[in-house]
Amino acid sequence: MLEKFYPDMFVDRIQDIELLELKKKNIKGLILDIDNTLVPMHMREADENAVRWIEKVKNAGIKACIVSNASSKRVIKFNERLELHAIHRASKPGTRAFLKAARLMGLNPGETAVIGDQIFTDIYGGNKVDMFTILVKPIDAKEWFFIRLKRLGEKIVLSEYNKRTEHKWNKRLQWKKNSLDKRIRIKQKG
Ligand SMILES: [Mg+2]
Repeated sequence: MLEKFYPDMFVDRIQDIELLELKKKNIKGLILDIDNTLVPMHMREADENAVRWIEKVKNAGIKACIVSNASSKRVIKFNERLELHAIHRASKPGTRAFLKAARLMGLNPGETAVIGDQIFTDIYGGNKVDMFTILVKPIDAKEWFFIRLKRLGEKIVLSEYNKRTEHKWNKRLQWKKNSLDKRIRIKQKG
C-alpha cells in the first residue's frame, strides 16, 4: 500500500548519485527539484555545488530539466547559471509537469529519473508515471539537525562547566564564611 511512496533509490545528497549506474539503468534524463534538493531553501541562485554537479551530469551525457512547484520568478532566477529546461508551478505530485519535462528532453518516462527531497510530491509524482525515483535528504534539515546537535553539545558542555564553577564558588563561599566566623570567634575571645 505504501509502495507508491517508496523511492527506487535513497541518497544523502545529489553528489552521491552514481551517474554511470543510472546510465546502466537506461536513464537518459533527470527531473530535478530545486528547494532542499539542489540548494537550501533560502538560496535564490544556483551555488557552486549545484553548478558543478549539473556540469557533471551534462558531461555524462545525461539531460536535465528543473521541475519545481515554486514561482516563475524563483525558477528563472535559479536557472540563470544552469540554463536547463525548467517548469515552474509544477503542481507536484500531479503528473502533468513530469510528463512535459520528459517530452522537453525528448525522452520516455521510463528513461527519466525524478530527484527530490519530498516523498509526497517528488517521489509519489514520479512513481505515478513509472519514472525512476531518487530521494535525497533535505539540505536544510541537515543543517538544522547539525546546528541543533551542536547546540545540544554546547548546552551539555556549558551545564557541566557551570556545575563545576558553581561547585567551586560554593566551596569558596563556604571557605570565606568559615574563615570569617573563625576571625569573629578569635576577636570575641580576645
Ligand atoms: Mg524540495
